[in-house]
Amino acid sequence: MSVINDNLSTMTTTEKKYMNCPHEDWWICECGNQPDYDGFFSCKSDGTIVSPVIGGEWNESTFVCLRCGVIVNNYNLEIVGKTTKEIQELNDNYDWSNY
Ligand SMILES: [Zn+2]
Repeated sequence: MSVINDNLSTMTTTEKKYMNCPHEDWWICECGNQPDYDGFFSCKSDGTIVSPVIGGEWNESTFVCLRCGVIVNNYNLEIVGKTTKEIQELNDNYDWSNY
């Protein structure tokens, strides 16, 4: 019984966050970013921007908000993480000719 209670309390304290998606293929991040502002780009699970090539470096599921570094799972819109300062810097200096 105590195990079940522990699980329940864990579930309520780790509330999942989701990207705001008012209509299909249009995201509004909590920082205010939208696809036609700074945009969202395919990235590794740590938020490093990679080219959205199937079978390449991309895991085919995560996108990063270029403004605040939130990492989103494209399939269920769950916010799965946030980039570190180091990765945000890498992304700021990303060579878009490789994208
Ligand atoms: Zn954002």
